[in-house]
Amino acid sequence: MQPLRGTKDILPHQIIYWQHIYTKASAILSLHNYSEIRTPIIESTNLFQRTIGEETDIINKEMYTFIDQSKRNITLRPEATASIARAFVSNKLYQNKLQKLWYLGPMFRYERPQSGRQRQFHQLGIECIGSLNPMADAEVIHLANELLCQLKLKDYILEINSIGSLEERQMYKIDLVEYLLQYQKDLDEDSQNRLYSNPLRILDSKNIKTQEILQDAPNLNKYLNKTSAEHFYLVCTHLDSLNIPYTINYKLVRGLDYYNQTTFEMKINSQDRQNTICGGGRYDNLIEQLGGPKTPAVGWAIGLERLLKIIEQKLILSQQPINVYIATQGLEAQKKIWEIIQNLEKENIKFELDLSNTSFQKQIKRASKLGAKFCIILGDQEINDNCITTRKLDEHKQYTISYSTFLEEIYKLKY
Ligand code: ATP
Ligand code: MG
Repeated sequence: MQPLRGTKDILPHQIIYWQHIYTKASAILSLHNYSEIRTPIIESTNLFQRTIGEETDIINKEMYTFIDQSKRNITLRPEATASIARAFVSNKLYQNKLQKLWYLGPMFRYERPQSGRQRQFHQLGIECIGSLNPMADAEVIHLANELLCQLKLKDYILEINSIGSLEERQMYKIDLVEYLLQYQKDLDEDSQNRLYSNPLRILDSKNIKTQEILQDAPNLNKYLNKTSAEHFYLVCTHLDSLNIPYTINYKLVRGLDYYNQTTFEMKINSQDRQNTICGGGRYDNLIEQLGGPKTPAVGWAIGLERLLKIIEQKLILSQQPINVYIATQGLEAQKKIWEIIQNLEKENIKFELDLSNTSFQKQIKRASKLGAKFCIILGDQEINDNCITTRKLDEHKQYTISYSTFLEEIYKLKY
């Protein structure tokens, strides 16, 4: 049996890296008073259709959608921002003026699996809900930067852009389409299809010929009005004050329809085609669109599998070694072991209890293999003499002491 295509098991030696990210993220985010939120993995299909946009890759071809037994149309979430906006409205979180939230969890997209692209993958994300202030954009970018730096990933590139408001984009789209129609036949097939459905996405095309054509295309930033231009200018000013380097990329539009104003991505310098690890931006209309009060917001999501691939190369983490291996033989010894275990628990000493019922020799061998420092041995002999044997595995030395002294000095097994 193999896991489903595009899904992976995360094994114990990899989990340490996941826990490391979770711990770092939780610490830095709670310092900024961001609170963790968990929303369901399944939602009504129409939540995503209404928010992500009909003509986007996610909605057109990547959704895991099914009809449940009550004939409800359900989708495994492809991303979390729509779910969090929904939770914000359903739980009336808008009663607090400002909500700073973060999440970590699995997302599902039916894509062609390849390196850095899975069908079940994980995102860590934050949403700062309730502020139009450019400082909010700067704070969320700072938090991504801070987290990446703490994870020893400093050499990434931040690209940033402003895609203005819906009205500004409407004007721009007309001119962009008019320009591109002159080269219609030379565009790649996807872009030709998008000319009428979602022309802004053409800016994102990876096709070289299309990119050449786009070089002389009208520029979105020329269409921004004073408010949008000023917002963008202030976001950049704050990034300067934060000493966060960035590149302005006027073609950065992002693949989801709910964004407006600021958009940004963080990329790593690598040959890997999947080199974007973080994507985010502003979404000032999403919550109102879902029936909540008009509430501006800004956030990002980091793809954890892509992040982990890099961290695993830079950071060596290993499981905490076990201190004590518990070897036993005979029912009397085994009955007594629970009291010892309770004392080990009290002292916070990591141990493994042997369950093999084999010879002491074999049990000690396994203790060494696991890298334990001590093996405590309890058999018929020890029961008769009311004592316990401790073997120091690296020195191949062992000593036997009375049971009561052993319990008094159990803390010594920590070192
Ligand atoms: P891409 O252009 O690579 O498809 P995207 O624009 O679809 O990315 P977003 O929806 O912005 O991605 O998601 C944010 C981040 O989540 C991405 O930058 C990436 O790191 C990660 N991500 C997205 N899709 C996948 C996937 N199928 N497998 C693994 N990680 C993913
Ligand atoms: Mg994608």
